[in-house]
Amino acid sequence: MTVTALRSSVITFHQDPFLVDPASSYRYLDDALVVMADGKIVSVDPYSDAAVDAATQAAGSAVTVTHYPDSLICAGFIDCHVHYPQTQMIGAFGEQLLEWLNKYTFIAEQQFADKSHADTVSRVFLRELLRSGTTTAAVYCTVHPESVDALFEESERFNTRMIAGKVLMDRHAPDALLDTAERGYDESKALLQKWHGRGRQLYCITPRFAASSTDEQLAAAARLWKEHPGTYMQTHLAENTGEIDWVRDLFPQRSSYLDVYDHAGLTGPRAIFGHAVHMDDVDFACCHRTGSALAHCPTSNLFLGSGLFKLTEAKQTDRPVRVGIGSDIGAGTSFSTLHTLNEAYKVSQMAQGRLTAAHAFYLATRGGAEALYLQDSLGSVAPGYDADLVVLDLAPTPLIAFRMGFTQDILEKLFVLMTLGDDRAVKATYVAGVPVYDSARDEAFHYAQDAAVTDGGAPDPRPHDASLPGIPG
Ligand SMILES: [Zn+2]
Repeated sequence: MTVTALRSSVITFHQDPFLVDPASSYRYLDDALVVMADGKIVSVDPYSDAAVDAATQAAGSAVTVTHYPDSLICAGFIDCHVHYPQTQMIGAFGEQLLEWLNKYTFIAEQQFADKSHADTVSRVFLRELLRSGTTTAAVYCTVHPESVDALFEESERFNTRMIAGKVLMDRHAPDALLDTAERGYDESKALLQKWHGRGRQLYCITPRFAASSTDEQLAAAARLWKEHPGTYMQTHLAENTGEIDWVRDLFPQRSSYLDVYDHAGLTGPRAIFGHAVHMDDVDFACCHRTGSALAHCPTSNLFLGSGLFKLTEAKQTDRPVRVGIGSDIGAGTSFSTLHTLNEAYKVSQMAQGRLTAAHAFYLATRGGAEALYLQDSLGSVAPGYDADLVVLDLAPTPLIAFRMGFTQDILEKLFVLMTLGDDRAVKATYVAGVPVYDSARDEAFHYAQDAAVTDGGAPDPRPHDASLPGIPG
């Protein structure tokens, strides 16, 4: 058994600061030793020679300790809503949602019929996530099954925990991007059987949004989801007023946008709804009751002029909703979760809320894990958890280094980091205890896995995880 350890300061959340006293929601260690073995965190203790000796004794051999001074370890960031095929079209000018889809997105996504193109974009996408300290994401592919294979193959190379699926659309898109209710069901099922639980990959049934799926397709998606407990369902919800009017016209018998999904059987644990900007109390209560989660995507909502997510209302203590943070690349404008938190703070300010650093870093780590029902294995730096970690540089730029000299405590440092920081603040990223990204490495060798690719190509497929529900042992 290989045992490794990291020395740095550590912050980790074990409770929801929206629901308990924020001061009791996290643990901070100024100088800690994080011991890892077999992809898991073994212990997190204040650093001391005795702690190193104890780790060495438990391992039965010397433990290598990697020291990150002036840094902070936290759980790898979790991105609850992102479209990898849109990596090539971030920053497309001048439209709101529906025009933006037609003018840019549906053009770009047609290229993913070509597997080699999907491979290329998957490579860039995974590396951008890791460079930003994001170790898990809920990812939309395109309608093409090849696009799903490309993403999971790349994720398997890094052993990242990814949740992804083929987009389902059987109306209101170019012919080249349409499937049918039956074909969408069959292709999704085949992909699900291939990928769900293979290594760390998890499958997500992915109807794009109510306007691009018929009643028949939404019903087929719900049927597939029910037939495979433990799988996920993701879609878009109440993002833009023009879209909401359209959905009302398409489903006149339903009481709200969310009611379309609820009626179809698409709410429940492991349902992730992107955006949810224009929600009322009945909608939030439905999410709470059904255990459905929301992905707050501030950079996207600002970029497309969609509106301001009501975070305070979503997390109301009498009916709290599970909420994670989403980059929503490519309507979102940054892979960096720090940058996304910066914009989330401003959205809260505009919506008369107040997003503290504790609340923000909770959303980006444990909050995301709770949204994905993975809070027992992801989102905290604690014994037994998967060793998916980001090492943040507390002085990544001259300005931040200078500003940090005037901070009093860790929460103030975190707030400076989320306001001024971006991918430059990521010193290293660990996946299942393995360093996959290191900012100090030479440009061509930032990613340890790239050397492996050059040496021997893709690794053998990983076995299915028999501990998951629905996976034959
Ligand atoms: Zn989206």
